[in-house]
Amino acid sequence: MHKNNLKEEIIRISGASPNKCMKCGKCSATCPSFNEMEIAPHMFVDMVIKGRVEQLVMSDATNHCLSCFACVERCPRGVEPAHIIEAIRVIKLRQSGAPQITPAQIASVIDTEIPQQALVSAFRKFRK
Ligand code: SF4
Ligand code: SF4
Repeated sequence: MHKNNLKEEIIRISGASPNKCMKCGKCSATCPSFNEMEIAPHMFVDMVIKGRVEQLVMSDATNHCLSCFACVERCPRGVEPAHIIEAIRVIKLRQSGAPQITPAQIASVIDTEIPQQALVSAFRKFRK
């Protein structure tokens, strides 16, 4: 995917507003995984703004995000860095060619103990 398209895809999937960022660094200051992430939350946001998205997708920083949403709560501008990270996870998952099933196949393979939220979450990873 062309990097401009990739940037637009990250923004579209995440629903985040990176251009609102005022570079205060509060998201990174509150992040419990700051020391483990090679690209901290405020850097994530800046890289999306500048279109350095291929490096972002290649990074393993998303593996260290705990999805605690502390950065979302702390951000004074409503940028929502965690949603950017989640969008990158979704893009990586789609690029990996993870196996998919059609709606018609669900009934035959479903574990009836799976919570409905898990099904909806899995569906969104491939559809949003
Ligand atoms: S959601 Fe991820 S990036 Fe945001 S504060 Fe939590 S661990 Fe850090
Ligand atoms: S807290 Fe919000 S405004 Fe501040 S650097 Fe992070 S994303 Fe930007």
